[in-house]
Order: sequence, then C-alpha cells, then structure tokens
Amino acid sequence: MKDDTAIMKKLSIVVPCYNEEKTIRPFLEACQRVEHQMAPDVLFDYLFVNDGSKDETLDTLREVARLYDNVHYFSFSRNFGKEAALLAGLEAADGDFVTVMDADLQDPPELLVDMYQKIQEGYDVVGTRRSDRTGEPAIRSFFAKTFYWLINKISSTEMVDGARDFRLMTRQVVDSILELNEVNRFSKGIFAWVGYNVYYISYENRDRIAGETSWSFWSLLRYSMDGFINFSEAPLNIATWTGSISFIVSIFGILFIVFRKLLFGDAVTGWASLVSIILFIGGLQLLALGIIGKYIAKIFLETKKRPVYIIKEKG
Ligand code: UDP
Ligand code: MG
Repeated sequence: MKDDTAIMKKLSIVVPCYNEEKTIRPFLEACQRVEHQMAPDVLFDYLFVNDGSKDETLDTLREVARLYDNVHYFSFSRNFGKEAALLAGLEAADGDFVTVMDADLQDPPELLVDMYQKIQEGYDVVGTRRSDRTGEPAIRSFFAKTFYWLINKISSTEMVDGARDFRLMTRQVVDSILELNEVNRFSKGIFAWVGYNVYYISYENRDRIAGETSWSFWSLLRYSMDGFINFSEAPLNIATWTGSISFIVSIFGILFIVFRKLLFGDAVTGWASLVSIILFIGGLQLLALGIIGKYIAKIFLETKKRPVYIIKEKG
C-alpha cells in the first residue's frame, strides 16, 4: 500500500487581518476549495493574525478556529501593522511550505495549485504580480510606479513592480527571512533581499470582496519612505554630494570676490542674490539634516530592541 504520510506536505497559510470581519469566512471557503483539490498531497494549515482589529474580526476567528482543526489564530494587543502580523505568522508557521495571503481575496487562492507546481519544479519562491492596476486610483498607480522606478535605481535590492506579498516559499526561504531580525521590517525589500530562485505568476488585479483598504495615500507615502531608508543609502549619498559640490562652488565664489575686491575695489551690490544663496544653502542643510535624522530614528528604534508585536490571545 502507498504510504500517504511519507509524501504529504504541510502548507502554512499566513493571513494578516485588520478589520476583516466580512472577508474571513469567504476567504476561508475559497481556500478550502483549493485545499480539497490539493489533498491528500498537501495539507493546509491556516494561521490568521488579528492585527488589533476594531470590528468583530477576533470573534469570527475564534469561531472558525473552533470549527476547523487546521485553523489557528493569534490576536495582537493592538494594531502593530501588516509587517508585524506577517512576522508573527511566519515565525509561527511550521509547514514545509509557507504562503502569505491577504484576507480580502485580492490574492486568488486558486493560484496556489500552479504555484505549488512551480515549487515542485525546483523554484524556491513563487511570487505573484498584478499584470495591471485597474480599479486603482490613477494617482496611486503613478506614485507606485515612480516608487519602484526610483528604488530600483538607488537600491541594490531589486524590487519587482506590481509584486504582491502573496507568495509561496520553501521552508529554507522562510528560515532565511526570519534570520533578518531587524525591527523596522519592510517586507517587499526583505523578500527581495534574501534572493533564491523566484518565479513570478501574473494575474489580473481584483477588487476586495468586502471592507476597505487600510492604506491611505499618506500611509503609502510613509511606507515608501520606509522602503528607501531601510534598503538604500542613496539619500545619504545625495546629501553628501550636494553638500560637497556647494562647498567647492563656494570656495571659487570666495576667491572670485577677493580678487575682484583687490583688482576693482568694492561696491555694495548683490545683496539679493546673497540672501537667496543663504536660503538655498540653509535649505539644503536642513534637508540633509532631515535625511540623517530619518536614519538616526531608525537606528534608535533598532537599538531599543522592542518586540515587533505583542500577542494577547492565541487559538
Ligand atoms: N492588514 C493588517 N494590518 C494593518 C493593515 C492591513 O494586518 O494595519 C492586512 C489586511 O487585513 C489585509 C492585508 O493586510 O489582509 C492587506 O491590506 P489591504 O487589503 O488594506 O491593502 P491593499 O490590498 O489595499 O494593498
Ligand atoms: Mg487588499
């Protein structure tokens, strides 16, 4: 007789949830359809992380965890952000393979079949990317595109435009990700930084089935700043270079003024240009200080070694 347990693999599904009371059940049902399709080779194990939701998410999770043996949840003491929820899930996931999915069904569970197939073919990671950004406000697409263009220009870590966090990873990759023990976690960068053989599957963008996106324009802007500061030293280099260049230019300026005074005498003109130059240099200095401050703030957070999240309840 064939021994099923020998080939049976465990797939841990990590799902960060923030105000997802309406989406958890449909999400779980959609996943369970795929689960039946992939059984008995692959056994699913769900790990929901309630990231301090203000709605009935926790109650819903308690209920589904009671209903199904392979559904588990963590609940944070407050909202720590998606990055923290992802980390908590990845740390707890003990599957041979691990996948990270949003609860809103924007990441289609049907893709897991193909993704698993690709892993079997020898890839370490199978990522997903949206082939389009339909349904997204034009301004958001524009900034997203600009962000990816810029970060790939100035950071040595390559980040793929349109790549979702939805990805299937082998145990080895997850262990590598967990070895990065920084407190400021920018997952898109971390996923890219660890490397490995990655295969991307494209799919058309989908809307949330219910609820609302928790990202505002400003939170996305802050998030992209995190990306720059965590994965690039370019802003610091830019500050250093502009500082050096303006210093050199000012030396020539001083020499010019001294020689003009010696050769032609002096006339009090040019105060307006002087004021603009002072403002210009002053502005540059403040900008450079601001950039340095950003990095120092990150160092400050890292040295405090605060936990990334606090778990209040498990089930
Ligand atoms: N999420 C979270 N904590 C947060 C914000 C979001 O755990 O502070 C979860 C959310 O429940 C969802 C996923 O992260 O499962 C992606 O969030 P969302 O759908 O709002 O982002 P979008 O798809 O619009 O980028
Ligand atoms: Mg979403």
